[in-house]
Order: sequence, then structure tokens, then C-alpha cells
Amino acid sequence: MASKNDEQFETRAIHAGQQFDPTTGAIIPPVYLTSTFVQDGIGGFRGGYEYARGGNPTRTSLETLLASLEGAKHGLSFASGLAAEDALLRAALGPGDRIVLGNDAYGGTHRLIDRIHGKWGVENAVVEMGDLSAVSKAVAAGQTKMLWLETPSNPLMKISDIAELAEIGHAAGAIVVVDNTFASPYLQQPLALGADVVVHSTTKYLGGHSDVLGGAVVLNDDALEEKVRFLQFASGGVSGPMDAWLTTRGIKTLAVRMDRHSANAQAIAEHLVGHPALETVYYPGLPEHSGHELAKRQMRSFGGMISVALKGGPKAARKFAESTRVFQLAESLGGVESLIGYPSEMTHASVKGTPLEVPENVIRLSVGIESVDDLLADLDRALPRR
Ligand SMILES: *Cc1c(COP(=O)(O)O)cnc(C)c1O
Repeated sequence: MASKNDEQFETRAIHAGQQFDPTTGAIIPPVYLTSTFVQDGIGGFRGGYEYARGGNPTRTSLETLLASLEGAKHGLSFASGLAAEDALLRAALGPGDRIVLGNDAYGGTHRLIDRIHGKWGVENAVVEMGDLSAVSKAVAAGQTKMLWLETPSNPLMKISDIAELAEIGHAAGAIVVVDNTFASPYLQQPLALGADVVVHSTTKYLGGHSDVLGGAVVLNDDALEEKVRFLQFASGGVSGPMDAWLTTRGIKTLAVRMDRHSANAQAIAEHLVGHPALETVYYPGLPEHSGHELAKRQMRSFGGMISVALKGGPKAARKFAESTRVFQLAESLGGVESLIGYPSEMTHASVKGTPLEVPENVIRLSVGIESVDDLLADLDRALPRR
């Protein structure tokens, strides 16, 4: 069954781009573990495939699926989230251009833009995305070609208004990019809210099982798609067939996983509020969170990521991160298993000493889909009593 875009998200997640194998009837399309394609005479390509850097049917399946999930015309799949971002940045920006990004963007994104693209003459400015007049000012300056936002943000779970920021970016003639990794397309649809491009680290919720790296660029604009597609082919940061297949397989359960991630995180956040060892609980599902009303409008539910600030400072934070058992100490997020991390030394080590620095008493939780009772017991056991 081919999937049509009028079907619901859950149906498209399972069927878009996923035609059964016409020769055997195998319900799961084969994984095309091949680097090249035999030609029927010179230039006689079957299905347009020539060499796998340019295209492979397993990658095409995933790309069709990614586009469908974001309600977009085009999806492009890469070897990692940063490979996807790099291709987009190189396709859209050149020397002398400027990019404005949030002061809480993913550390690796900031590093890529600042230390790699900066060297080639792309300027960047970091702003607080909650301050709309500061954003307007920042995009009006220089040759701003791109506005880059991430919501909910990492690790402080700030919520930015995609529709408002898209208008501000467009008024300045900038391309508006949303890193939708934390929400996933099930919880949030940035293109429908006015953004031009969505990027993903599919390594996280889309893959969902902590077993594969990947990234995506999803967009409607044909001219920009052509440039990104050319870079994908010409510089080669593509996802291999096995990686593409694992990601496709993960996506089939995205909707049910996200429902459970959100429900577990909501219960945990509510339980942690007011805990004597904690200064703050950062979760947009809490009514007292500054972005709660906006998140309610912009997202289906609030997702699986929570951060907490400990009263006991860095020492207490480190001890907490090293004391849980079900929550395992590791970088990354979005898998079925719960993870705990210390951003200032782990995921955000690359932004120490920059405006993106994370407070040293903050711990980040990627809430998995285990029994919520076990997760709550684990956190209670590991947190200091006071
Ligand atoms: C992990 C992550 C990235 C980078 O993706 P990789 O797959 O690790 O290259 C980008 N943005 C966000 C929000 C992430 O969490």
C-alpha cells in the first residue's frame, strides 16, 4: 500500500515510502545493500539508480517517509544530524552571509556554525529567542540569510514561538530553520507553522532505539532542495542502507513511543516539583513553566526531556547523575531506554565559556518508555534527601 498524505500521521509513519516487494510480496522492502547499479546499456538506469552516493532505494524509502511525516515535499537523509546541518548550511550560505541562532542551540550546531563555517566567512550571532525584539534587531543586521531555532531547547526546555519567529525571519529575508529533534514530527510540525526547513538528528526520537546515527533535512522549496541534494551527492555525507533501514523501522512506532515518553515525563516532572533537593524542574508540561501555554498551542504533548537544577550545586548534580540505575549515564536522548546526563561536562562541553554555557548544577533526563513506577523509584533513590 502506498501512503497518501491525507492519511493520519500514525498510518503514514508505517506506510509512507514502504511499498511491499513486487517480486516476492515481502511486506518489508528489502535492504538494498549495494553500492552500484547495473545499467541496461550506457545510461540505461533502472528506477534512476546509478551509484549509491547519489541514491539507493532504501534511502529513498526513508526520505519519502521523512517528507511525509513533516508534511513536506522533500526529505533528504544523511549520515548524522550534523552532516545534514552542514549540507544545509553550505547549500544556503556563503562568505559574508550571517546566521542568527538561539543562545541555547545544540552545542554541536553552534560549534559547526562558529568554528567550521566561521572560518569560511559565515558570521553568526547568538540571541535569546524568547526576546522577539532582540531577534528582530539581530536579523536586521548584516547580511542575515538564516534564522535557526530549536524548540524545546536543550537542555533548559525553553519554548520558542515558531510562527512569530518565522514572520520575523521572513521580514528580514532570512530562511527560517527549525531543529525539530526534541519534539519529533509527531509532536510538532514547524513547516505548518511557517518555517522553511526542518532539520533532525534522526539518531534521537525518530530512530528511537539508540542503535543508529542519522540526520535529515526536510523542506518544500524546490530550488533549495536541489542545492542540498547536490551537496549530499557531491560531498557524500549520506546514510548507508542499513542505517536508513534501521531508522525507517524505528519510525513505525514513533507515535506510540512519543505518547509514552510524554506521559512518563509528565508524571516524573510533576513528582519532582517541590523535591527538597531541587531548585528548579524544567519541563514545558508543567503549568508554571514559562513556555507552557505556547507549548500547548504548538505541540501535541510535551515530550520526554526534563532537566533539573540541584540545590547542592555541581557536586550534588554529579553525584545524582552517577547514582541512578535504570537511568543510565550516557550522552544522547530519545531512545526507549532512560538516560541521565550532565550537560556542562557531556553534551554541552563544546560550549563551555560561550554564551551557550549550561549551569553546572543542571542534570538532563531523557525519559524512556520503561515502567514509570520503576523510573520514579530510581530517581527517588538517587536524589539527595534534602
Ligand atoms: C544530537 C543532536 C544534533 C546532532 O545530531 P547527530 O546525529 O549527533 O549528528 C543536532 N541537534 C540536536 C537538537 C541534537 O540533539
